Amino acid sequence: MTSRRRFIQIVPLAGAAMLAGGHAAAQAPMVDENDPQAKALGYVADATKVDRNRFKQYAPGQVCTNCALWQGKPTDAAAGCAIFPGKRVAGPGWCSAYAKKP
Ligand code: SF4
Repeated sequence: MTSRRRFIQIVPLAGAAMLAGGHAAAQAPMVDENDPQAKALGYVADATKVDRNRFKQYAPGQVCTNCALWQGKPTDAAAGCAIFPGKRVAGPGWCSAYAKKP
């Protein structure tokens, strides 16, 4: 009986925390590739579209989800990035501030 009661007490709290977290993340707008800062950094939502002539340091396989500045989980479709505060970048994206996650 005790464990069942405990379960009932914990579940609504966990659900509320997940909803609150998801809601906050959903509110942050996505970085626009045409935003001046995004353009300056060569940000693209799809790393396969990186301008290889302009950004010679880009190597296939580099994406936001494996960048040290990525603030989400490796499986997130979009998340915050330290370079673009208050906004979200696309998981398969890339910009010239890319730094491989250690
Ligand atoms: Fe993506 Fe990293 Fe550039 Fe942020 S700094 S946009 S996570 S590549």
